[in-house]
Amino acid sequence: MRRKLVIGNWKMNGSRAANAELLSGIVSGLKDVNDRADCAVCVPAPYLAQCQQELNATPVAWGGQDLSIHASGAYTGEVAASMLVDFGASYVLVGHSERRAYHGETSELVAQKAVVALAAGLIPVICVGETLADREAGNTEAVICAQLQAALEAIPADRLAQVVLAYEPVWAIGTGKTATPQMAQQAHHFLRGCVAQKSADVADKMRILYGGSMKPDNAGELLAQADIDGGLIGGAALKAADFLAIIHA
Ligand code: PEP
Repeated sequence: MRRKLVIGNWKMNGSRAANAELLSGIVSGLKDVNDRADCAVCVPAPYLAQCQQELNATPVAWGGQDLSIHASGAYTGEVAASMLVDFGASYVLVGHSERRAYHGETSELVAQKAVVALAAGLIPVICVGETLADREAGNTEAVICAQLQAALEAIPADRLAQVVLAYEPVWAIGTGKTATPQMAQQAHHFLRGCVAQKSADVADKMRILYGGSMKPDNAGELLAQADIDGGLIGGAALKAADFLAIIHA
């Protein structure tokens, strides 16, 4: 039985004051849910220290939204895996569609980032997903398979079990359009099958999150699907009540 995992992706949002209110709202509303689910927030790098301070010894973990493939040096603007670890991060998103679209990240680079994250002891959340044009052309499976394949090839078999996958159809992110539970389940089942080609055991244990306009009113049905093991939440993670409602779902 896979434990559910709900991760909030704050994207480029936040301020020290707003974060303090959001984090304390989440922590105080969580109570005993941690018996059944894990929960984390992935925040802009400058707020990692605040997370460390405010979430330490709470059931809420934290992480980054990206990392560099380099360990240190002349890479202005980048954040190393060791820096995320230094601030107590457990997770890091890699290959979010906004990174792929606005920063030209290829699946090979995303795979390298996942390898670097794992080597540093971080859990990479590898994001894959098709655009609307891909879906309409009937290419959903080919696209998400190719995105995942690069990571499956790069990650050593003994590390694969630590990976979290996120299926995020690009057309559903921040748009209010959600994949139907059936559509999402089909994609998740397909992705699990791709992982199974490398290791059936790992595929069985791997948590695959759905992301794309997951909200309190659609979370229950999505999370009830056999292969949907949690959510990667954008907009709804910025309101404690909404994020908590999804976690409780
Ligand atoms: C995301 O940013 O990964 C995301 C899923 O956003 P939203 O929930 O707002 O669609």
